[in-house]
Amino acid sequence: MIDPRQIAAGIVGAVDWQTEVSGFCRCPGESLHTHPTGKKDCRVSVDGAPTIYCFHSSCEAAVAGANRALRRAIGGSPWEIVLPGGKILRSGDILQTGGVVLPREVIRARATGSGLNLVEQMDLESLRVLALRFKPELFAKFHWPFAQILSDSPLLVADRDADEQFRTWLRLWPAHCHVWIGDVYSSGRPEHRTHFRPVADWYQIGPVMGNFTCGSAFKPGSFQRSNANCDGTRFLVVESDTLKKDEIGAVFAYMNNRLHFNLHAIIDTAGKSLHGWFDAPNNRLIETRLKAVLHVFGCDPKLFTYSQPVRVPGAYRDGKLQRIVWLKN
Ligand SMILES: [Zn+2]
Repeated sequence: MIDPRQIAAGIVGAVDWQTEVSGFCRCPGESLHTHPTGKKDCRVSVDGAPTIYCFHSSCEAAVAGANRALRRAIGGSPWEIVLPGGKILRSGDILQTGGVVLPREVIRARATGSGLNLVEQMDLESLRVLALRFKPELFAKFHWPFAQILSDSPLLVADRDADEQFRTWLRLWPAHCHVWIGDVYSSGRPEHRTHFRPVADWYQIGPVMGNFTCGSAFKPGSFQRSNANCDGTRFLVVESDTLKKDEIGAVFAYMNNRLHFNLHAIIDTAGKSLHGWFDAPNNRLIETRLKAVLHVFGCDPKLFTYSQPVRVPGAYRDGKLQRIVWLKN
């Protein structure tokens, strides 16, 4: 019988095993990293779907290639590992923290049934493994290309002019909210207070103060876009630097239809991407799990920084209108 750990080490080199089946290794695409590489940035796991997972995104293609090699090498031959205490872990099972074995039959039923469950008691590592396994299926099953998003919109808004785009977007906010609109640097000094205004003010002013806003409202009197100044009213703006306009719709559809996060609007940034505006999770645990899953799917982990600037509808970017292309009724 094969030892999957030996095979993994044959592909990624020496592994600093943290559990019987999972440890840190050198990223197969380390030379492509655009940020400094930490010792714990890349992990290999041989349980579940054997997976190399790196926190960097610039190495994605190299990691994907190594994952194919890893799964080819391990996937064909069933194996068993005897865990401390005598329990048996078989190929395809997942070893959860605390030594609990999640049998492969259960994983398979979940992956093909209801997808990922963010509420379930499962450690983040297992959730990432499942998310990675589920990813190809997600993009196939929930495929929602840009043209389809446009024609599926419950309210027809994409053709509205800049002012109407802006006002339509303002209506997503509760009336009492103070919203920031500006350019990325319109924050941090008292004179920037003019960029933090109640929704009603923005209604009068229109989309002229900048190209950006935030998913969070701010406390009255703020002049700095910081998490400490957020007032608690917030949207989760889901975006990706890597997923194309025809791809990211699958993530929006999955979140809205399957995970039941409430999608309010999809915004065309007048660049390469679409942003999905969702109700933000109000539960810390769910937020952490969603973040892990969305990162695996290719979305930007910065999106959980609610004071992060995002494109505001109604402003022009290089002559193209930032606009709402899908709006909930
Ligand atoms: Zn990497």
